[in-house]
Amino acid sequence: MDPESATERAPLLEHETDRASKPRKVVQGTLFVIFALGLILFLFYYEGVQYGRAAGEDTRWPWGGDGLPKEPHEAALRILAKAPVIDTHIDLPWLIRDEYSNNASAVDLRTPTPGHVDIPRLRAGKVGGFFWSVYAPCPGGLEGPDFLNPTFSVRDTLEQIDISHELIRKHADTFELTLTAEEMQSAITRGKIASVLGVEGAHQLGNSIQVLRQYYTLGVRYMTLTHICHNAFADSGGFLKPFEPLHGGLSELGHPLIYEMNRLGMLVDLSHTSDDTALQALQISRAPVVWSHSSARSMHGVARNVPDNVLEKIGFGEGQKDAVVMINFAPQFVAEDGKATLSAVADHVEHVAKIAGKKHVGIGSDFDGIGSTPVGLEDVSKYPDLVAKLYKRGWTKYELAGFTGANFLRVLHGAENTAREMAEEGAQPSYAVYSKRTDL
Ligand SMILES: [Zn+2]
Repeated sequence: MDPESATERAPLLEHETDRASKPRKVVQGTLFVIFALGLILFLFYYEGVQYGRAAGEDTRWPWGGDGLPKEPHEAALRILAKAPVIDTHIDLPWLIRDEYSNNASAVDLRTPTPGHVDIPRLRAGKVGGFFWSVYAPCPGGLEGPDFLNPTFSVRDTLEQIDISHELIRKHADTFELTLTAEEMQSAITRGKIASVLGVEGAHQLGNSIQVLRQYYTLGVRYMTLTHICHNAFADSGGFLKPFEPLHGGLSELGHPLIYEMNRLGMLVDLSHTSDDTALQALQISRAPVVWSHSSARSMHGVARNVPDNVLEKIGFGEGQKDAVVMINFAPQFVAEDGKATLSAVADHVEHVAKIAGKKHVGIGSDFDGIGSTPVGLEDVSKYPDLVAKLYKRGWTKYELAGFTGANFLRVLHGAENTAREMAEEGAQPSYAVYSKRTDL
């Protein structure tokens, strides 16, 4: 039907309906309004309850009750009591390797550490959970142009997984190893700090998707596709300046890697990747994705930050994917030398919120992995100040509960749902082998 005939026919139809069934139309209209209102209420209820429950609160009417205190810091503490911080990138395991040779018996996290993280400061910062980054550095070219020379990346990763497990076990009254979004919420409800592992670069796989499956078995729930080096699966984005691409985004082997991560329910992390890697991964990942610790390039123009044309692909609309960008505090990504402050970090949060939406931003500080910190965000005890700053700028308690943790939990849930769907469809493990290997 062309538009012209549509306009011509419409008045006739209108006329007929008016005469024949006006009462029915009223009933239908009323039912529709009731349905729409119900849906809106359900969505609000669902959003609110998500993270309200995590704090063990009865949140049947999450928007009800008294308003928040005017004083921003008090308001922030009230919000965080219901919706504690989930930080998706903390390098405590690396600090322990560096400072204590990975000897858990030499470390007491109840006392001050030389870094940004210890139990008293986590409690002061109202932290409900965090990802322990089981990072092993790029081999610095030792692996050769085809990544085939043996390196210690897999050994070192296993050591970082071990030290994380041991510290979580040693402080079992504080930390709890959690493997799902539901387990995270449950641990937080019981006053524990939910602890999950994240691998920071596919160079840590020794080119093997089978290694990925074993990391999953050991509790890893996201893997960054690259660190500051290209690998057999994907191109890195570089650091302050971009790298010359190698594959032009994902390699041939990058595709089965993402399939396998989707199948397992391990989040695809796009921090550190090149823009092309990110855009391609957004396109092919069936599950929502995460940037575990990345800021906004429009706010500070370094390669490591996420550009607007990528942020525009995040969302619930057509051609978009659900994702969450967890803002990195590293001063060199936040602002020019000497200008990284809490306020500048809040600007990054707001920029991502402006382009991608407030449901798509969170916290991935990189504490213990950064040499210096922004003024006002010196360690994990300072998160409430960031929440207070955003509250002062007009963020509502629901938006802030999303920012502190619920946005991330939604995305992790999404990845788990995809894995469930794929299992129901009979998806099989990937046995893709790196084509340049000759031993298999
Ligand atoms: Zn990093």
